[in-house]
Amino acid sequence: MYKEIDLLVKPEFVQEYKNGYPLISKESISDWSKVTKEGEIINLVDNKNKFIAKGYYGIQNKGYGWVLSAKKDEKIDVEYFKKKIEFAIKYRKDFFDDESTTAFRLFNGEGDGVGGLTIDYFDGFYLLTWYSIGIYEQKEAILEALRSLVDFKGIYQKKRFDSKGMYLIDGDDFVCGAKAEAPIVVKENGANFAIYLDDGPMVGVFLDQRDVRKTIRDKYAKGKTVLNTFSYTGAFCVFAALGGSSKTTSVDLANRSRAKTQEQFRINDIDVQSQDIIVEDVFNYFKYAVRKNLLFDMVVLDPPSFARSKKHTFSASKDYVNLLKEAIQITNKGGIIVASTNSANFSMMTFRDFIFKAFKELKGKYRVEESFSLPKDFRVNDKFKEGDYLKVVFIRKDK
Ligand code: SAH
Repeated sequence: MYKEIDLLVKPEFVQEYKNGYPLISKESISDWSKVTKEGEIINLVDNKNKFIAKGYYGIQNKGYGWVLSAKKDEKIDVEYFKKKIEFAIKYRKDFFDDESTTAFRLFNGEGDGVGGLTIDYFDGFYLLTWYSIGIYEQKEAILEALRSLVDFKGIYQKKRFDSKGMYLIDGDDFVCGAKAEAPIVVKENGANFAIYLDDGPMVGVFLDQRDVRKTIRDKYAKGKTVLNTFSYTGAFCVFAALGGSSKTTSVDLANRSRAKTQEQFRINDIDVQSQDIIVEDVFNYFKYAVRKNLLFDMVVLDPPSFARSKKHTFSASKDYVNLLKEAIQITNKGGIIVASTNSANFSMMTFRDFIFKAFKELKGKYRVEESFSLPKDFRVNDKFKEGDYLKVVFIRKDK
């Protein structure tokens, strides 16, 4: 049975929703007791009972739901999702047409009009990620919409219900169609990536760094020594090596990173033996590098927003300045630091301040060569700046 529930918005929040703000916050609603189950469709109304916007109830990080439509009469059904996904497909036409890139984001949550859902494309396979029970409740309608619009090899899913800050992994990521090889090999600007659609929360590559990887390969890598910290499957090193780096060093504390990185090198015909892959805490490695007087022409910093290792807790908003200081000390004069963060908690301006502070404290000079935010396929809602989380700065240390 399709039903909608009216929820009264507190007066001070009405204008925000009228302006198109898509995240339904807990504190903006007078009384949540009318909704009982995640996934319920809600109409936001003002104190004259006038319709403002329509959304769904689903608990995710800071929010209690997402706005889906500004139209009072719009029903949230298969047709609705079809319209959204169809538009998203058109928006990515260049990606579908590009044979050198077969992995990209097809649907980016609130950027494409439906917060809490992303769909990634991997060479004919589709991976849906559900960020709340609320959006997962719409699964059947969303799947029907997607299936009616695309020819697919297979469909997979990840549940990232975040209510306790934990990923829910129940090992049933396959949804329908054909099962994917483990791995499937996709292309990104001509390079290969091994992708595992059914092996834990991460599939092997972060698609949002595509333009950064290409830039490293095409403009910065040739003849350089490259240190890649928090390297995961070594994607930055793959591109550095393809761009002619003299040597890459990958550092990650996860055991799995060694075999995963070797595999990415191998499928790109890069000689694994001539690259270093180190399984260690990055912060120990920095100490080691300083002790051994190691210097690199390029240092990539791409930490998680928050991480806890045996000895360290790292929080990007608190500790990035120190991370930069570690990196600056082992970067050659005239070398490049690629500083990256996916933390939505601070802006590009704050991130630039971190860089300024780190160099100032070490009495060093630098120049910003270029910077990046999310690529085109990671479409952002201009009313929701927090969604534009990626910040990458190429910093040249002065000679
Ligand atoms: N830069 C990667 C993505 C990083 S994901 C890429 O381009 O694909 C974050 C990685 O940081 C994970 O693989 C995790 O194992 C690693 N990590 C977290 N804390 C760490 C630490 N203290 N030292 C080394 N690696 C760490």
